[in-house]
Amino acid sequence: MLEVKNLHASINDKEILKGINLNIKPGEVHAIMGPNGSGKSTLSAVVAGKEEYEVTDGSVILNGEDLDDLAPEERAHKGIFLSFQYPVEIPGVTVTNFIKTAINESRKAKGLEELPAKDMLKLIREKADLLEIDRKFLSRSLNEGFSGGEKKRNEIFQMAMLEPKLAILDETDSGLDIDALKIVANGVNKLKSKDNAVIVITHYQRLLDYIVPDFVHVLHNGKIVKSGGKELAFELEEKGYDWLK
Ligand code: ADP
Ligand code: MG
Ligand code: MG
Repeated sequence: MLEVKNLHASINDKEILKGINLNIKPGEVHAIMGPNGSGKSTLSAVVAGKEEYEVTDGSVILNGEDLDDLAPEERAHKGIFLSFQYPVEIPGVTVTNFIKTAINESRKAKGLEELPAKDMLKLIREKADLLEIDRKFLSRSLNEGFSGGEKKRNEIFQMAMLEPKLAILDETDSGLDIDALKIVANGVNKLKSKDNAVIVITHYQRLLDYIVPDFVHVLHNGKIVKSGGKELAFELEEKGYDWLK
């Protein structure tokens, strides 16, 4: 599904990613771990197509298509979802109205008609129920005064609605408390299927107690220095990162 080949990327002429290789198949969960500053967020941003990064070598391929020339919105329409893509507060725009617009934009990009209001409502309710999201939450203003847990709930709801092929969850710097952690984990576990894949980026092992990865990769100084199964996460928890440097 996703192939990252010899990916090199820079920001302000400083090379951050120094030859990343990754191969992710449908149905798999990959965890990317590594010390602060190792390039985890940069990798997710480059895969999502954020324009402040310059790809200097290598490629990102989704289902056989090189994404090189595609803008973030186009990548999103092709099924890549990056958490924190919409962290903005939008007073007066509700969670529901925001997601309606996002869904219809995405359909338009695929040449589809807008989803009839009745079907949209049904879909929203279905997903909200699946994730145990209170109906009242859906009429809140987007991110306005949201707690950490509510922000996570909103992100997971967006993910459920958009049904991405590849979801990238970059949790590193968000200081998740245990409730927010469980919201993310339960959501991911419910939305996981044999047709989609998830990349979970985390500095700490604890999120992986709830989302069990098939593969764990350790990033250090812009390179994957070790890959393994879920047991690698426990090893890192125990030994830290220094032995890999
Ligand atoms: P991680 O998510 O693993 O903590 P990042 O991808 O955020 O790591 O950062 C990797 C490196 O890139 C760090 O050295 C960081 O200082 C640098 N970096 C990230 N973003 C920028 C930026 N906008 N300008 C300059 N350097 C950056
Ligand atoms: Mg960081
Ligand atoms: Mg980060």
